[in-house]
Amino acid sequence: MLLEVQELQAGYGRLQVLHGVTLSVPPGSVAAVIGANGAGKTTLLRAISGLLCPTSGRVAFDGQVITGWPPERIVECGIVHVPERRQLFGSMRVEDNLLLGAYLRLRREPWRAIQADLERVYDLFPRLRERRRQVAATLSGGEQQMVAIGRALMARPRLLLLDEPSLGLAPLLVREFFRVVEELRAQGYTILLVEQNARQALRVADVAYVMETGRITTQGLGRELLNVPEVQAAYLGMDAGQARELTVMK
Ligand code: ATP
Repeated sequence: MLLEVQELQAGYGRLQVLHGVTLSVPPGSVAAVIGANGAGKTTLLRAISGLLCPTSGRVAFDGQVITGWPPERIVECGIVHVPERRQLFGSMRVEDNLLLGAYLRLRREPWRAIQADLERVYDLFPRLRERRRQVAATLSGGEQQMVAIGRALMARPRLLLLDEPSLGLAPLLVREFFRVVEELRAQGYTILLVEQNARQALRVADVAYVMETGRITTQGLGRELLNVPEVQAAYLGMDAGQARELTVMK
């Protein structure tokens, strides 16, 4: 396993949000965590990337225990977190935002390697190539999300943590984003995705977890969970009767 999370507990002050989360992400796969608002999905990603210090439990990355490490050390291991609010530098141009993602590489890698990765990001998001000189604050929400993912890719992550990449996007762009996730997997990236858009997330995920009030309540192969009546009823907008009928029909 590339990432193994065991019995992780974390919260904010006295508020405990994660009540012992256990999950794992195989290398080269897309893993999804779905769940309602406030289930603790963002908190889980923050506890993995070191933005929040877990109160107990364990996070292991490529066999090494990294629980409680500071975020900059975790980034250096290759875990890159794309937060829900994209946190771009609004007054800087698109290309400069992307290059910031490569700042740890600037000291040790030739410029042309970084330039080649920039081209790869532009191949993935051609719209950013057109807008490379535009200041980030003037981009649409979808374009800003592309920059945030592109910036993370510029760090050459070994594990990409994506927090609600489809949030607030128009349906066409949502599909486009999940296509990008599949493309990244095809290129060999490992991705842990948290999403409220359960249907799309389960379609692309190799492994998936359902999180409810800080606990994993169901897990399985992504497409398998699409067929679990409780998941259908709670997250895919079907009522329990419809979900059962569909299951019987299959
Ligand atoms: P959403 O999809 O709405 O982002 P989520 O599953 O990601 O939800 P979290 O953001 O992890 O959920 O929030 C879990 C709980 O922790 C919520 O009850 C939230 O109010 C609380 N919480 C989140 N951030 C903080 C914070 N900085 N301080 C205090 N409580 C927080």
